[in-house]
Amino acid sequence: MTTKQWFQGVIKLIIVIIIIWFLLELSLSVRKRILKASKQPITMTMTITRTITTDVRAYCPKECCVPNPECLDGRFANNEIAQGRAIASNSLLRGTVLRVPGYGVAIVKDHGPNLIEVFFEKHEDAVNWGVKRDVQVEVLR
Ligand SMILES: [Zn+2]
Repeated sequence: MTTKQWFQGVIKLIIVIIIIWFLLELSLSVRKRILKASKQPITMTMTITRTITTDVRAYCPKECCVPNPECLDGRFANNEIAQGRAIASNSLLRGTVLRVPGYGVAIVKDHGPNLIEVFFEKHEDAVNWGVKRDVQVEVLR
């Protein structure tokens, strides 16, 4: 191997390293952008993608409403602390954003036996809601 060949080999290696570095940077920036977009706050101006007509049951985080003892850890199925507004569903993907009339905009964070259940921190609020029949639930995202 001559000095010239060795030198050309080094140059090629450097070019390959630069290309790999560039591709890694590119994929990282795309990932960052996707992450940023997913963290954007929920606004009421989002377009409705579809409407589901369904019964909506309410539940609280305690044993009165959660029959499975393993689920009584004060957290939703997505591991967030069980508080605020949230939806439990047996068929909608976690992270789906819904607008439930009388409840508001909430994200599917939990699993449950029904199509849509709305979460209340207090059992009495869940009892007040009970089961609402044929609610027009809007799927926002
Ligand atoms: Zn309850």
